[in-house]
Amino acid sequence: MTKQFKPATILAQAHVDKIPRTNEITPPLHLSTTYVRDADNEYSSGLVYGRPHNPTIQHVEQVLTTLEQGADSMAFGSGMAAATAVFQALKPGDHVIAPKVMYWSLRNWLAGMATEWGLQVSFVEMSDLASVQESIRPGKTQLVWVESPANPLWSIADISAVCDIAHAVNARVVVDSTVATPVLTRPVLLGADMVMHSATKYLNGHSDVLAGVLVTAKLDAFWQRVQQVRTNHGGILSPRDGSQLLRGLRTLHLRVRESCRSAMAIAEYFDQHSGVSSVLYPGLARHPGHDIACRQMTGGFGGMLSMRFKGGKCAAIDVAARVKLWKRATSLGGVESLIEHRASIEGSNTPVPDDLLRLSVGIEHVDDLIADLEQALNQQ
Ligand code: PLP
Repeated sequence: MTKQFKPATILAQAHVDKIPRTNEITPPLHLSTTYVRDADNEYSSGLVYGRPHNPTIQHVEQVLTTLEQGADSMAFGSGMAAATAVFQALKPGDHVIAPKVMYWSLRNWLAGMATEWGLQVSFVEMSDLASVQESIRPGKTQLVWVESPANPLWSIADISAVCDIAHAVNARVVVDSTVATPVLTRPVLLGADMVMHSATKYLNGHSDVLAGVLVTAKLDAFWQRVQQVRTNHGGILSPRDGSQLLRGLRTLHLRVRESCRSAMAIAEYFDQHSGVSSVLYPGLARHPGHDIACRQMTGGFGGMLSMRFKGGKCAAIDVAARVKLWKRATSLGGVESLIEHRASIEGSNTPVPDDLLRLSVGIEHVDDLIADLEQALNQQ
């Protein structure tokens, strides 16, 4: 299946017209960890051993490569395994720029182990291009990490503009596009060198697989180093999870569209609510990143939003305790809606205000989701 098809078509058929030899409609699950060598001592299939190669995983990767319009992809056992593989392919002494507000585990890893190991890390306000420019160290800065919309304040980074700044000093730009998904944003088309997804979230969509993906815009020496990291560290996604992920991918576009529609309706409904001090959602016209989001995201502003409560931390925690339909759990991007007091999970050094709840909007009926939040707020 070629790149001429629209995302919905690539996804619905999981990128294959038919499986060679068996003509299956559903992609098969390949479990073998090793492959037979040919009589001439070669491996004509290109498959040698399960740690670098697996056909089910290659199938997942082909779907993601096509969808993101990249040159190649790699699937990992988690989003963190994918993200850290990128940084592990750098060298001690290299400088990287990352957002102040980003997925907290990766921020902690960058500030802790990655720094101890020799990376120099600057955390900047990624939506402020002047700050990005100021923190560049020509000759030293190798990579700029972008997350957009950024978890959990949903600030928007201008991916093209960050690429211009980074590319002027030959630094790469890698975008964590977990929340946007390839349905809404394709960072490679905006100039990014690599795209990362926690496939645990929307790409799988059913909260039953941990997975991560990297897509590269070009096949270069850096991509080869990242491939070596995955092979040597054993970070490849398991084929069973790859098969589940393929199944989830086939409805990605439908789930994302529904979540976006509902998130927009929820944001608009609670924006003026008497118990809510602000709703953070890039779809709202007064959101500081709205204009960039309109340019950069097509078909919606994502299924994630946050709310801050006039009654402070206690009010936020009370609302999370009183909802009946929303599930009080961490994670995002599943078919079921989740609500979470983010500061509680991120700990004392979090930049997230303690009066904030993060909402991952699933595919339940939006009227039920709004009514449940309303009854929880009205009990205050
Ligand atoms: N990036 C974002 C935006 C996330 O929300 C997460 C997990 O919540 C990750 C990366 C890490 O992914 P995983 O939990 O699959 O390791």
